[in-house]
Amino acid sequence: MKVQVVENVLRANDELAAINRADFERAGVFVVDLIGAPGSGKTALIEATLKAMPGVRIGVIAGDLATQRDADRMAKFTNHVVQINTGKTCHLEASHVRQAMSGLALGAIDLLFIENVGNLICPVGFDLGQHCKVGVFNACGGDDKAAKHPYIVRESSAIVLTQIDLLPHVNFRQQVFMDDVKALNGSAPVFPLSPTTGDGLEAWLKWLESAGLGARQARGRQM
Ligand code: MG
Repeated sequence: MKVQVVENVLRANDELAAINRADFERAGVFVVDLIGAPGSGKTALIEATLKAMPGVRIGVIAGDLATQRDADRMAKFTNHVVQINTGKTCHLEASHVRQAMSGLALGAIDLLFIENVGNLICPVGFDLGQHCKVGVFNACGGDDKAAKHPYIVRESSAIVLTQIDLLPHVNFRQQVFMDDVKALNGSAPVFPLSPTTGDGLEAWLKWLESAGLGARQARGRQM
C-alpha cells in the first residue's frame, strides 16, 4: 500500500513535469536544472553566467527552504527571477516549478536555470520538465563527492566543478574526482571553473549553447 502511494505521487509529478516541458518547448526556452549541495556555488555559477551572457535572455527559478536571498542576488542581473520557498521539503517538484512559471514571462526568456534546493540526493528523482540536469560540485566539498553520489552523476548531462581558484588551498585531488565522474558517466563533460576569476567559464557557456540554447535562439530569430 505504501509503495502504491509513492508511485502515485511520482506519477502525478511526472505528468505535471511533461506539461511544464511542453510549455517550455512551445515558448522556446532551454531549461537547466542545477543540482548541488548547499554552499557548492550554484547561485555564484548562475550569477557568473548572467554576467558573461548579457545578450542572452536568462530567467531563474531559485529553490530554497527559506528566504529570497538568492533571488535578490540574481535580480541584479535579470528581471526574470522567481524564488520558491519549500519550507521543509528537500527538493523541488514539478508543482513548485509550475507555480513559479506563472510568475515568469516565458516568451521573454531563452534560457531558464532552475536552482534546486541544496541537496545532492533528493532532487535527482524528481522530473521538473527540464531539458537537462547539471550536477554542481565544488573544490571545498571534497574530491569524494562524485563517487559518493552516483545518482546525480549518472543523471547529469554535464558536471561543473566550481571554486577551482581554491584548489591550491584545499586537499582536493582533481584527477580522482575526474576519474570517478568518468567511471560513473562517460558521456557527461566536466567543466572545472571559477566564477570568481572567470577561469573555465568560456567552455561552460559554449556547452550551454551547444546543448540547446543556441538552437532555441536561432528558432526565436526565425519566428
Ligand atoms: Mg543558492
